[in-house]
Amino acid sequence: MCELIRELSPKTKIILGGHGTSIVGLKDMIEHDYISKGEGVSWFRQLFGEDVNQPVLQPAMLSTTQRRIMGIPLPNTAAVLIPGLGCVNACSFCATSHHFKKEYFGYMNTGKEVMKELEFIEQETGSNEFFVMDENFLKQRIRAQELLKEMEAKNKYFSLGVFSSAETIESVGVEFMAKLGIDFVWLGVESKRSVFTKTKGVDLAAMVSKLRDYGIQVLASAILFLEHHDKETMQEDIDFVLELNSDFVQFMNLGPLPGTALYEEYDKAGRLRHDIPLEEWHGQDKIWFEHPNFKIDVTGEYLKDAFIQDYERQGPSLLRLAETSLRGYRNVRNHSDERIRNLTGRLKERCLTFRQVFSAARKFAQNQKTIEMLDNLEKEYLIEFGKPSMVNFVTSNIVKVLSGIEIWRIKTGRSMTQPPFRYKQYRLSPSENINFNLAHSLDQKASKV
Ligand code: SF4
Repeated sequence: MCELIRELSPKTKIILGGHGTSIVGLKDMIEHDYISKGEGVSWFRQLFGEDVNQPVLQPAMLSTTQRRIMGIPLPNTAAVLIPGLGCVNACSFCATSHHFKKEYFGYMNTGKEVMKELEFIEQETGSNEFFVMDENFLKQRIRAQELLKEMEAKNKYFSLGVFSSAETIESVGVEFMAKLGIDFVWLGVESKRSVFTKTKGVDLAAMVSKLRDYGIQVLASAILFLEHHDKETMQEDIDFVLELNSDFVQFMNLGPLPGTALYEEYDKAGRLRHDIPLEEWHGQDKIWFEHPNFKIDVTGEYLKDAFIQDYERQGPSLLRLAETSLRGYRNVRNHSDERIRNLTGRLKERCLTFRQVFSAARKFAQNQKTIEMLDNLEKEYLIEFGKPSMVNFVTSNIVKVLSGIEIWRIKTGRSMTQPPFRYKQYRLSPSENINFNLAHSLDQKASKV
């Protein structure tokens, strides 16, 4: 990309930023004018000779593009909020924590500030659903408590998706999260053997179950090819994660990324395979270090097999989400806390939305587990909401058609949906619109690659 920029627009300045800046020898690998390491807003302000201490105004941005499930196009209604960067937990593999020197850098330091941004972005985008891009949002407990007070004072509800470490959830409590409007959490469970401090002494199965009881969708993320893994112990870890019964599971291969303590350790021990191209260092195929018990070439297959086990044993995530919504609905509607009780409406709406995929899920079911889940869900939904309405009948048939088209698309190699080209210009007037052509050419060339 940088070569293309140099070719198409030699005067354009190239600034390299993000995690890639930790790559040793980067400055000799890629055409550039500057490298921005760590927190970028202050860095840019310094570059432009501006006051680094002025408040940060977050642009109102949507967090999704071309959302679709089973071929059903969904509106892009979620926005993104970035309250701060980094995490103090400093897990040895964590690129983000190390990138920000194991410290937290808050763009919004009080609950009032977070609330102000949420309201501003809601006004600009019309969305009250947010993905909170903060590695461990609730770890700033006082800020989160202040935010809840603000929301309570205004009787305001947002839907928030967050990342959270287990010990943080333990300390704030699931009910607090529900009151805050959190309905999705990405939880790093990593391994049965609490190899990282954040999961020590936490009953993860009970935590996941309680989160789902409040309608909070859980993604449990685990690491394969940890130091202690051999075939047996890795399978034990896979079993452990699957038995947590989360809505989603992510398996990620251990990845010693530049800048992390893990990278330093493995590099010193001569275990890193620098001959493997950097673009393959992503954790979703083969590992790039020597493991005592696995040959590198087979590691991608183990990872794929772990995902297949999840699908075969736990069924589709979409149906698990339908279960979570129902569990949440049943639990909160008679809850003693009024704020939690008030979540009933949105959980009911979610249940009825998921109901529309049941017949397509049955028609295209790929395993016995899916059928069992549907039998149970349809029975429970009937008890709770009565017979499906005529509207549900019609939309269910539309979903079946769209799902059939989606299957055809995937079978004929059209599975990738490319995000649309977007060009956004900040602080320049339209007459200074000098880089549109460059951006457009890059997009055209990139889509051909
Ligand atoms: S808790 Fe999560 S974000 Fe924090 S250091 Fe560990 S892996 Fe990184």
